[in-house]
Amino acid sequence: MATATKPTCPNCNAEIKSPIFGDANQLLKGATVEFINKFTNNQSTNYCTRCYKDLM
Ligand SMILES: [Zn+2]
Repeated sequence: MATATKPTCPNCNAEIKSPIFGDANQLLKGATVEFINKFTNNQSTNYCTRCYKDLM
């Protein structure tokens, strides 16, 4: 468990952080990703709460 790599956002490479650390950054859920890709003509596999604000 100690060697687990930290998850990052496939769109902006920001580190995904749990809300328990205070500075949360979470990946979006599938339906939201599909909506953003249609809306913005992007094709990323996912977005985080940090970069999706810049896209919308
Ligand atoms: Zn991101």
